[in-house]
Amino acid sequence: MNGSAFSSYVVVPHKTLSVSGDEHIAEYEVGPGAHKHYCSRCGTPLFNVVSRYAGACMIYLGAIDPLPDAVPALNVYCESMLSWVERVGSIQKLPTGADGK
Ligand SMILES: [Zn+2]
Repeated sequence: MNGSAFSSYVVVPHKTLSVSGDEHIAEYEVGPGAHKHYCSRCGTPLFNVVSRYAGACMIYLGAIDPLPDAVPALNVYCESMLSWVERVGSIQKLPTGADGK
């Protein structure tokens, strides 16, 4: 539901979520009971709330500051996983972008 090959979330109880600058949070209903929340100033995706997972909140990992000291515990929606994803961990790794920056 994000249009990319990967998306990393931290799942927490929604009632525990605290957002600084929350006056800039916008919401978009992507489907029945599925709401994406994002920054109305810059478009950064922040978190999702889906009625199917009542009480839970899926926070985009990149939106958390500081990053949590956690490791992945679960891959979901693997039936639509792209065929090359299993090989990603074994391909060349660069410390910066492809342009060296
Ligand atoms: Zn923003």
